[in-house]
Amino acid sequence: MTVITIGKAPDNDYVVNHPQVSRHHARLVSDEQGCWFLEDLDSSNGTFVNGVQIVRKRVTPADTIRLGAEYSLNFSEVLKSKNDYTAEFKALKKVYDDYAREKVKIQSSNQFKTRLFQSLPFALPGIIGLIVSVAGNSNHGWVIGSLLLTVLAPVAGIYLGARQSAKIPQQLQDLTNQFKIDYVCPKCGTFLGDIPWESLRNKKHCPVSSCQAKWADD
Ligand SMILES: [Zn+2]
Repeated sequence: MTVITIGKAPDNDYVVNHPQVSRHHARLVSDEQGCWFLEDLDSSNGTFVNGVQIVRKRVTPADTIRLGAEYSLNFSEVLKSKNDYTAEFKALKKVYDDYAREKVKIQSSNQFKTRLFQSLPFALPGIIGLIVSVAGNSNHGWVIGSLLLTVLAPVAGIYLGARQSAKIPQQLQDLTNQFKIDYVCPKCGTFLGDIPWESLRNKKHCPVSSCQAKWADD
Protein backbone atom coordinates (compact mmCIF):
# COMPACT_ATOMS: atom_id res chain seq x y z
CA MET A 1 0.00 0.00 0.00
CA THR A 2 1.29 3.44 -0.95
CA VAL A 3 0.10 6.69 0.61
CA ILE A 4 0.71 10.14 -0.88
CA THR A 5 -0.35 13.04 1.30
CA ILE A 6 -1.32 16.35 -0.32
CA GLY A 7 -1.58 19.80 1.25
CA LYS A 8 0.02 23.13 2.08
CA ALA A 9 2.15 21.93 5.00
CA PRO A 10 5.77 21.11 4.06
CA ASP A 11 5.57 17.63 5.63
CA ASN A 12 3.22 16.47 2.83
CA ASP A 13 4.47 14.16 0.07
CA TYR A 14 3.02 16.57 -2.47
CA VAL A 15 3.06 20.20 -1.32
CA VAL A 16 0.51 22.59 -2.85
CA ASN A 17 0.80 26.30 -2.16
CA HIS A 18 -2.67 27.64 -2.79
CA PRO A 19 -4.94 29.80 -0.51
CA GLN A 20 -7.87 27.35 -0.86
CA VAL A 21 -5.82 24.25 -0.08
CA SER A 22 -5.72 23.12 3.57
CA ARG A 23 -2.51 22.24 5.40
CA HIS A 24 -3.37 18.54 5.21
CA HIS A 25 -5.99 18.54 2.49
CA ALA A 26 -6.23 15.03 1.01
CA ARG A 27 -4.35 11.82 0.42
CA LEU A 28 -4.03 9.22 -2.31
CA VAL A 29 -3.99 5.59 -1.21
CA SER A 30 -3.31 2.61 -3.47
CA ASP A 31 -4.68 -0.88 -2.76
CA GLU A 32 -3.07 -4.29 -3.48
CA GLN A 33 -4.42 -4.24 -7.04
CA GLY A 34 -2.73 -0.91 -7.73
CA CYS A 35 -6.00 1.07 -7.76
CA TRP A 36 -5.86 4.59 -6.36
CA PHE A 37 -8.33 6.09 -3.92
CA LEU A 38 -8.53 9.80 -3.14
CA GLU A 39 -9.53 10.67 0.42
CA ASP A 40 -10.46 14.11 1.73
CA LEU A 41 -8.80 14.83 5.09
CA ASP A 42 -11.61 17.01 6.43
CA SER A 43 -10.36 19.97 4.40
CA SER A 44 -11.89 23.46 4.71
CA ASN A 45 -12.80 23.85 1.03
CA GLY A 46 -13.44 20.26 0.02
CA THR A 47 -12.08 17.77 -2.56
CA PHE A 48 -13.88 17.27 -5.90
CA VAL A 49 -13.70 14.52 -8.54
CA ASN A 50 -15.26 15.40 -11.90
CA GLY A 51 -17.11 18.27 -10.21
CA VAL A 52 -18.60 16.18 -7.39
CA GLN A 53 -17.45 16.63 -3.79
CA ILE A 54 -16.06 13.40 -2.34
CA VAL A 55 -14.92 11.92 0.96
CA ARG A 56 -13.31 8.83 -0.59
CA LYS A 57 -13.37 7.84 -4.25
CA ARG A 58 -11.45 5.65 -6.66
CA VAL A 59 -9.55 7.81 -9.16
CA THR A 60 -7.64 7.29 -12.41
CA PRO A 61 -5.43 9.74 -14.38
CA ALA A 62 -8.50 10.40 -16.58
CA ASP A 63 -10.42 12.02 -13.69
CA THR A 64 -10.48 15.77 -13.05
CA ILE A 65 -9.49 16.43 -9.45
CA ARG A 66 -10.01 19.77 -7.74
CA LEU A 67 -8.92 20.90 -4.27
CA GLY A 68 -11.20 23.71 -3.14
CA ALA A 69 -12.97 25.76 -5.81
CA GLU A 70 -9.92 26.64 -7.91
CA TYR A 71 -6.91 24.35 -7.62
CA SER A 72 -6.73 21.54 -10.21
CA LEU A 73 -4.67 18.59 -9.05
CA ASN A 74 -2.78 16.77 -11.80
CA PHE A 75 -2.96 13.13 -10.67
CA SER A 76 -0.24 11.97 -13.09
CA GLU A 77 2.07 14.73 -11.84
CA VAL A 78 1.49 13.67 -8.23
CA LEU A 79 2.38 10.06 -9.03
CA LYS A 80 5.48 11.13 -10.97
CA SER A 81 6.65 13.22 -8.00
CA LYS A 82 6.83 9.90 -6.12
CA ASN A 83 8.65 8.33 -9.08
CA ASP A 84 5.53 6.19 -9.53
CA TYR A 85 4.98 5.17 -13.14
CA THR A 86 2.72 2.22 -12.38
CA ALA A 87 -0.17 3.51 -14.48
CA GLU A 88 1.97 4.23 -17.56
CA PHE A 89 3.85 0.95 -17.18
CA LYS A 90 0.58 -1.01 -17.17
CA ALA A 91 -0.18 0.33 -20.66
CA LEU A 92 3.01 -1.36 -21.97
CA LYS A 93 1.48 -4.82 -21.50
CA LYS A 94 -0.61 -4.30 -24.63
CA VAL A 95 2.48 -3.08 -26.55
CA TYR A 96 4.36 -6.29 -25.76
CA ASP A 97 1.39 -8.61 -26.37
CA ASP A 98 0.65 -6.99 -29.76
CA TYR A 99 4.31 -7.24 -30.78
CA ALA A 100 4.58 -10.93 -29.79
CA ARG A 101 1.36 -11.80 -31.63
CA GLU A 102 2.35 -9.86 -34.77
CA LYS A 103 5.78 -11.53 -34.84
CA VAL A 104 4.26 -15.04 -34.80
CA LYS A 105 1.76 -14.00 -37.48
CA ILE A 106 4.45 -12.72 -39.85
CA GLN A 107 6.60 -15.80 -39.36
CA SER A 108 3.82 -18.34 -39.86
CA SER A 109 2.19 -16.56 -42.83
CA ASN A 110 5.54 -16.31 -44.61
CA GLN A 111 6.32 -19.93 -43.89
CA PHE A 112 3.04 -20.92 -45.48
CA LYS A 113 3.56 -18.80 -48.60
CA THR A 114 7.16 -19.95 -48.98
CA ARG A 115 6.09 -23.60 -48.77
CA LEU A 116 3.29 -22.97 -51.25
CA PHE A 117 5.66 -21.53 -53.83
CA GLN A 118 8.22 -24.23 -53.20
CA SER A 119 5.63 -26.95 -53.75
CA LEU A 120 4.67 -25.39 -57.08
CA PRO A 121 7.37 -27.24 -59.08
CA PHE A 122 6.01 -30.57 -57.87
CA ALA A 123 2.34 -29.75 -58.29
CA LEU A 124 2.41 -28.03 -61.66
CA PRO A 125 3.73 -30.82 -63.93
CA GLY A 126 1.06 -33.08 -62.46
CA ILE A 127 -1.68 -30.60 -63.32
CA ILE A 128 -0.28 -30.06 -66.82
CA GLY A 129 -0.01 -33.82 -67.32
CA LEU A 130 -3.66 -34.17 -66.35
CA ILE A 131 -4.75 -31.49 -68.82
CA VAL A 132 -2.68 -33.11 -71.57
CA SER A 133 -4.16 -36.55 -71.00
CA VAL A 134 -7.68 -35.12 -70.96
CA ALA A 135 -7.05 -33.14 -74.16
CA GLY A 136 -5.59 -36.25 -75.81
CA ASN A 137 -1.95 -36.59 -76.77
CA SER A 138 -2.58 -36.35 -80.50
CA ASN A 139 -1.91 -32.63 -80.14
CA HIS A 140 1.87 -32.19 -80.18
CA GLY A 141 1.62 -28.57 -79.04
CA TRP A 142 0.28 -29.71 -75.66
CA VAL A 143 3.13 -32.16 -75.19
CA ILE A 144 5.80 -29.59 -75.99
CA GLY A 145 4.04 -27.04 -73.79
CA SER A 146 3.85 -29.42 -70.85
CA LEU A 147 7.52 -30.38 -71.23
CA LEU A 148 8.47 -26.71 -71.29
CA LEU A 149 6.42 -26.01 -68.14
CA THR A 150 7.92 -29.02 -66.41
CA VAL A 151 11.27 -27.31 -66.81
CA LEU A 152 10.05 -23.77 -66.09
CA ALA A 153 7.88 -24.52 -63.06
CA PRO A 154 10.73 -25.54 -60.74
CA VAL A 155 12.66 -22.42 -61.72
CA ALA A 156 9.62 -20.18 -61.04
CA GLY A 157 8.87 -22.01 -57.80
CA ILE A 158 12.38 -21.65 -56.48
CA TYR A 159 12.47 -17.99 -57.50
CA LEU A 160 9.10 -17.13 -55.85
CA GLY A 161 9.94 -19.14 -52.75
CA ALA A 162 13.25 -17.34 -52.35
CA ARG A 163 11.62 -13.95 -52.91
CA GLN A 164 8.96 -14.70 -50.29
CA SER A 165 11.46 -15.79 -47.65
CA ALA A 166 13.43 -12.59 -48.32
CA LYS A 167 10.36 -10.58 -47.26
CA ILE A 168 10.50 -11.99 -43.71
CA PRO A 169 13.52 -10.02 -42.50
CA GLN A 170 12.06 -6.76 -43.87
CA GLN A 171 8.66 -7.19 -42.21
CA LEU A 172 10.25 -8.31 -38.95
CA GLN A 173 12.68 -5.40 -39.14
CA ASP A 174 9.81 -2.91 -39.46
CA LEU A 175 7.97 -4.52 -36.56
CA THR A 176 11.08 -4.51 -34.36
CA ASN A 177 11.87 -0.88 -35.18
CA GLN A 178 8.40 0.22 -34.05
CA PHE A 179 8.62 -2.00 -30.96
CA LYS A 180 11.89 -0.29 -29.98
CA ILE A 181 10.09 3.07 -30.08
CA ASP A 182 7.00 1.93 -28.14
CA TYR A 183 8.37 -0.50 -25.55
CA VAL A 184 10.34 1.96 -23.44
CA CYS A 185 10.49 3.00 -19.79
CA PRO A 186 7.73 5.64 -19.33
CA LYS A 187 10.14 7.86 -17.42
CA CYS A 188 13.61 7.64 -19.00
CA GLY A 189 12.61 6.27 -22.43
CA THR A 190 15.15 3.43 -22.38
CA PHE A 191 14.18 0.49 -24.64
CA LEU A 192 13.20 -2.39 -22.36
CA GLY A 193 14.45 -5.16 -24.66
CA ASP A 194 12.63 -8.20 -26.01
CA ILE A 195 11.55 -9.14 -22.48
CA PRO A 196 7.97 -10.18 -21.66
CA TRP A 197 6.01 -7.56 -19.75
CA GLU A 198 5.38 -9.91 -16.79
CA SER A 199 9.14 -10.40 -16.27
CA LEU A 200 9.66 -6.63 -16.20
CA ARG A 201 6.82 -6.14 -13.73
CA ASN A 202 8.49 -8.63 -11.40
CA LYS A 203 11.58 -6.38 -11.39
CA LYS A 204 9.30 -3.55 -10.12
CA HIS A 205 11.72 -0.74 -11.01
CA CYS A 206 13.53 0.58 -14.06
CA PRO A 207 17.08 -0.87 -14.03
CA VAL A 208 18.63 2.41 -15.26
CA SER A 209 20.37 3.72 -12.13
CA SER A 210 19.58 7.39 -12.79
CA CYS A 211 15.90 6.54 -13.34
CA GLN A 212 14.67 3.84 -10.92
CA ALA A 213 11.07 4.63 -11.93
CA LYS A 214 8.60 2.51 -10.01
CA TRP A 215 6.72 0.16 -12.36
CA ALA A 216 4.79 -1.99 -9.90
CA ASP A 217 3.95 -2.12 -6.24
CA ASP A 218 6.47 -3.76 -3.94
ZN1 LIG B 1 13.63 4.29 -16.69
